[in-house]
Amino acid sequence: MIRPSAPLSLLLLLLLPLLVSSPRGVDAGASEAEAPSYRLRFPDRARHYAEVEATIPTRGEDSIELWMPAWTPGSYKIRDYARFLEDIRALDAGGGALPIEKIGKDRWRVQCAGRERFTLSYRVYGREMSVRTNWIERDFAMLNGAATFLVATGTEGSPLDVLLEPPPEWPASETGLPPHPDGAPHAWRAPDHDTLVDCPIVVGDLEIREFEVEGVPHRLVCHGGGDLWDYDRAAEDCRRIVEAQIAMWRVVPYESYRFLNMITESGGGLEHSNSTLMMASRYSFRDPDRYRRWLGLVSHEFFHTWNVKRLRPIALGPFDYTREVHTDDLWVVEGITSYYDDLMLARAGITDAKQYLKALSEQISSVQKTPGRLVHALAETSHDAWTHYYQRHENSLNSSISYYTKGAVVAFLLDAEIARASGGEAGLDEAMRLAYSRHSGARGYTSREFRDCCSEVAGIDLTPFFTRAVDSREELEYVDALAWFGLRFAPVKEEEEEPETPPPHDPTPGWIGLRSADRGGHLVVTAVEHGTPAAAVGLNVDDEIIAVDRYRVTGGGWAARMKQYSPGDEVTLLVARRGELLRLSVTLAEEPALSWKLERDPEATPEQRERLIAWLGAAGEGLREEDSEEGASTEVPAEEDGEE
Ligand SMILES: [Zn+2]
Repeated sequence: MIRPSAPLSLLLLLLLPLLVSSPRGVDAGASEAEAPSYRLRFPDRARHYAEVEATIPTRGEDSIELWMPAWTPGSYKIRDYARFLEDIRALDAGGGALPIEKIGKDRWRVQCAGRERFTLSYRVYGREMSVRTNWIERDFAMLNGAATFLVATGTEGSPLDVLLEPPPEWPASETGLPPHPDGAPHAWRAPDHDTLVDCPIVVGDLEIREFEVEGVPHRLVCHGGGDLWDYDRAAEDCRRIVEAQIAMWRVVPYESYRFLNMITESGGGLEHSNSTLMMASRYSFRDPDRYRRWLGLVSHEFFHTWNVKRLRPIALGPFDYTREVHTDDLWVVEGITSYYDDLMLARAGITDAKQYLKALSEQISSVQKTPGRLVHALAETSHDAWTHYYQRHENSLNSSISYYTKGAVVAFLLDAEIARASGGEAGLDEAMRLAYSRHSGARGYTSREFRDCCSEVAGIDLTPFFTRAVDSREELEYVDALAWFGLRFAPVKEEEEEPETPPPHDPTPGWIGLRSADRGGHLVVTAVEHGTPAAAVGLNVDDEIIAVDRYRVTGGGWAARMKQYSPGDEVTLLVARRGELLRLSVTLAEEPALSWKLERDPEATPEQRERLIAWLGAAGEGLREEDSEEGASTEVPAEEDGEE
């Protein structure tokens, strides 16, 4: 389970029993009391229903309260899962109805009058194809605990039994829940309600591939890919990612792990302690870019096994499922994970250095092109995830910034800062391992404690770094980080020779700074960035631009039309706003020429080159081979910038 060569392994070995929350934590003696048990059937699956029948022990109480979570961990939005329940009944042993009263939006009270147990029955509607909700249909079901199980108050800390009775066409079920001690198929015993919520269940006709890393079993479980996916190859790539991440963390904190991959023409992933639920397209295996993005998702969700499922801010566990919980550290949880997801693909040799630098460039570019970065600090965006990131609107780009992208960029800067300060002795890897060894127990960490771990491995106080990058709204500073790794932003324009025949028209297009979409052939404004000509002239979101000067413009034709104009030209836009025609005169500008495209600095010293190689793992070694083939001072050729 632990890499014996690792310097931290001894420490971790000693700490392991304290750190690891094993899903098999139920010992025989702990479950003296009768466990609530839930039986799920699917006779009405074609209409997206699961039927739940639960036996709820009462401990002799006169009344029992039942409740549903309002949200599920990892997805910071109130979803009010109770709205998907129907026909909730409580019955005594003879089948007689017991009084049941709704006492809150997701809470009920059953009058059981001292009976030892009662039967609870209800239907769950599931037809939202996302990783934090339920989907039930003819061919399969995907169940999330928070959206499925109505819980009796007082039983949350005790074992809960789950038994599925799938139809014959659904031969397999997979979940991270521990199997039920009686060994029945499709039966599990969760040690507590948190684990029940943390272990999604998929059931149907599943493609399953198993592999071991460090002697620990891992499964890739797929549904829906047909013959468009090569499951062996996908499992092999998952294995490489698992190996790269275990090599970094140096501890395997689970007894088995499942990648539950629903190939359902949807997207997204959600992390759990010993599994992840992900979504993909059947067409993403054979398209190299989409497949790489899927592997990035695998890498991201798997990294959360450590970063948030065990090493977490205090607010993120034990969970209050009834309301929002706030932390300033979602940038650590999601941003640092977003930094490592791509980096681990490079270290595993799945992507090369050029692909990795392109991915990092895109993250930097996304941050630098979002005006909201100067309005909402990273700590604030973390705190406000519930009302901002999860409730974005047309002005969000002006008012906020994603803690995923800015967090990933800050993680890169932090990695370089720790390395610089420690003279190359440490980096973010060491800081994460130290934080894990210290704070992955039951309590969690404060912002200060996480930052202290970074300062400790850096050997200097990093407070000024965190104040600027995380707590303030100031611009990020890249110079030192790029210099550490021998990188630079590519020059904006390559030196061009004067063309023999000058072009007939200034090739620099006019720029107005709007974002638009083709809606049924109409060109509609989707966002207006602050500080642009579009904002100055008062263009609004949802305005339809009908013509530029006297000429019609349609659908996706905006960029081509702007090539007809030059910066400084004044044009009149004919606009329809809620059906009323307006004419707006606007002076076009030149798009701010900034490059966020990372490339190796041709002037980099051998020392800088070595740091880059070490940072990128297998992809770095690829660079060394390239350099030795082409001579040590080879420039990485510039590549097309795929922006906007
Ligand atoms: Zn995440």
